[in-house]
Amino acid sequence: MDYLKRQKRMAASLEGEGLDGFLVTHLPNIRYLTGFAGSSAVLAIAKVKDKTKSAFFTDGRYLEQAREQVQGAKVAVGGKPALGSAIEWLKQSKTKRVGFEALHMTVAIRESLGKTAAGKLALKPTRELVERLRMIKEPAEVAQMRAAVLLASSVFDAVVNDIKPGVPESSIAAEIEYMCRRMGAEGMSFDTLVSAGARSAMPHGVASQNPVPGNGFVILDFGVILGGYCSDMTRTVHVGAAGKKAKALYAAVKDAQLAGIAAVRAGVETWEVDYAARKVLVKAGLGRYFTHSTGHGVGLEIHEPPGLRKAAMRTPVRTQSKLQARDRLEAGMVVTIEPGAYIPGQGGVRIEDMVVVTAEGCEVLTPTRKDLIVL
Ligand code: ZN
Ligand code: ZN
Repeated sequence: MDYLKRQKRMAASLEGEGLDGFLVTHLPNIRYLTGFAGSSAVLAIAKVKDKTKSAFFTDGRYLEQAREQVQGAKVAVGGKPALGSAIEWLKQSKTKRVGFEALHMTVAIRESLGKTAAGKLALKPTRELVERLRMIKEPAEVAQMRAAVLLASSVFDAVVNDIKPGVPESSIAAEIEYMCRRMGAEGMSFDTLVSAGARSAMPHGVASQNPVPGNGFVILDFGVILGGYCSDMTRTVHVGAAGKKAKALYAAVKDAQLAGIAAVRAGVETWEVDYAARKVLVKAGLGRYFTHSTGHGVGLEIHEPPGLRKAAMRTPVRTQSKLQARDRLEAGMVVTIEPGAYIPGQGGVRIEDMVVVTAEGCEVLTPTRKDLIVL
């Protein structure tokens, strides 16, 4: 990964924001810009008279790791807390208008920043400046995510036959997580979701002690972190014979998921993908049971821009984009496609893949089968 190049791109984007300095406090952004994978750091970037320079601040615990990992920035360990040192450095670098990451700063820290800046720097809140750069993945990042997806997918194949009536959801989740770690995952992207029977109607059902019932859907939603990058997949299986209603529910969600994938292409607005998937469920009479958006970006974080937000179904397509934030998909973005339908008291179905956006469409990274698995 070319961290210096990323920092230069970041510095170039500051101009458009009317800034000559930037303070990075969100750790995934620091990792993206420097390679540092530790959990305490601040990165300061200054762009004065067309010269870009940056300095990385951490505390003594991370000095060794920082020297090993940080690229493209001078590593400094001050006597002061990292943030204070970073502000001092920005003052000495003659920056005047410094952006900070408003989504990742507490009110208390903002107040103390103001005191340290002491009228010498104008501090400006910004949103998702680094995240916007992170949306388009480099080939090396896609390769890393592909490896994470394949690891998780192989774990699904290995555990799926252990899903049986009477087995607690938490024990299935534990088995998934244990296997992922055994196969080299650095961790899980989020708490593994396993929800069986009526609980599968909760879109975010964290695994409970409840046993898998004799008949019903089981939703498994999990992901691993590999080389810092996250994966995310959902499959829904059925325990016991699936009745007509269950089969129809599954088929509708699967069709919606395929329609979502078919709508992905560089240049389309993000709502169009949601619209394509949602339309299928609306037609099947399940529209009101699809309660979340169709997908999200994935990368160093499990949820990152762009979001494939809910389209307004009652609005005609031609006026739709007036209502939406007009974000467009671009080649190299990695997003999930994960429609679902959740019927209270009965159960739910969700199917989730990760895809890479291309000029002509997309490449589905998740290789796992999607036909209804009946156990
Ligand atoms: Zn998921
Ligand atoms: Zn997801």
